[in-house]
Amino acid sequence: MIVFCPECGAPGVPLMFGLPVPEAREAAEEGELALGGCVVSADPPNWQCPRRHRWRDADEQAWEERLQSVLEAHGYRESGPLLPDV
Ligand SMILES: [Zn+2]
Repeated sequence: MIVFCPECGAPGVPLMFGLPVPEAREAAEEGELALGGCVVSADPPNWQCPRRHRWRDADEQAWEERLQSVLEAHGYRESGPLLPDV
């Protein structure tokens, strides 16, 4: 599943907030996901494109599946929820 940027049409990558696991840092260095840092706004975006536009897509499941597959491709194997519910 590919999510496209509403501003420029480029394919987006999952944007995650909080302290990233090492696999997430590695994936971010390769441009497979984006790290938003530790400060989470009230209505945080969850996708980012290569031009750094950020937007929120209501399909949380697509986001989670994409994030999971990116992390697993980098060797992340821990089961359970990736992020605590805020
Ligand atoms: Zn864009």
